Amino acid sequence: MPHDVGAKRAIAFVAGHDDQGWIDALAAAMPHEHIIHNQDFRDEEAATVQIAIVANPTPEQLLRYTGLRWVHSVWAGVERVLPVVAAQKIPLVRLIDPMLAHTMGEAVLAWTLFLHRDMPAYAAQQRQRVWQPRPYRPPGEVTIGLLGLGEMGRAAAVRLLAAGYRVCGWSQSVKKIDGVDAHTGEDGLRQVLQQADMVVVLLPLTPQTNTLLNAERLAMLKRGAALVNFARGAVVDVDALVAELDAGTLSHAVLDVFATEPLPPESALWHHPKITVLPHVSAPTDHTSAARIVAANVARYRADGVLPPTVDVMRGY
Ligand code: NAP
Repeated sequence: MPHDVGAKRAIAFVAGHDDQGWIDALAAAMPHEHIIHNQDFRDEEAATVQIAIVANPTPEQLLRYTGLRWVHSVWAGVERVLPVVAAQKIPLVRLIDPMLAHTMGEAVLAWTLFLHRDMPAYAAQQRQRVWQPRPYRPPGEVTIGLLGLGEMGRAAAVRLLAAGYRVCGWSQSVKKIDGVDAHTGEDGLRQVLQQADMVVVLLPLTPQTNTLLNAERLAMLKRGAALVNFARGAVVDVDALVAELDAGTLSHAVLDVFATEPLPPESALWHHPKITVLPHVSAPTDHTSAARIVAANVARYRADGVLPPTVDVMRGY
């Protein structure tokens, strides 16, 4: 055992993969803390740990820490860890990092331009040696519907508005965002789906958003509209989406997230001509930036025992 694990102040780092980059960044941001990898704790030592920093751990990995006071996720989406900590009434803090939101805003703009400027169609034409200009529409005539107007959705709205697009959006609570036609409720969702030329999904995965975009709601989209899912795979019923693409009612889908990741090699989505598959890369977390935010939250807790805002268990995000 290479570490002084027994120390009460040790912070456990618990992650599925990509561990060393996180350990290095967290240790650099918190030189006075003792960040120890999950695998370096014996069970009886794990029971003394009060703070865990987690990167999408399995429930089994987390359950051995029986004395936790709180958990900090370095992932923005917390659907896997929330039920585990909620069952034990342990507060959960998720990552809110302006750099992550900026990166997501960039991805939303990039893939909006990809779709708006007809890149899938021109790529197909090139393969067939077809020289055929398509009609151009200025961004001021193109409406982007953002499902979710939180950290990611608001950053996306800023980039889209600056690029000249019309932006509408949907959230749980009423929002006032300059330049955004914001909606709530089932009726608001229908309005966004019916007016958007492209819908970008930036919702957390919760019991309410699971398969939110089912066959019935996908059928509300404008004929020829496109869909971008940068949130979680399970928010979209992929079979229903493929049916709409095959029927020609939807033009294209950009999917960054899937119910099973990595997307299995045998999945038909890989070679669907109207689907662009991305390997969960729309907003990769910057370890250094995220570690600084976690460090500030830990320092404040050490100083005065106050936690940053925690995930709302009832809402699920
Ligand atoms: P957030 O700040 O919590 O925002 C979530 C938004 O969704 C809020 O506007 C919220 O409404 C809305 N919402 C939630 N449930 C709803 C419902 N049932 N009906 C209507 N609106 C609902 O979360 P975020 O930081 O923007 O992140 C959103 C998601 O993006 C994460 O949960 C994660 O899954 C995903 N993500 C993906 C990547 C990637 O690389 N692919 C990277 C980062 C994040 P209110 O504002 O009214 O609460």
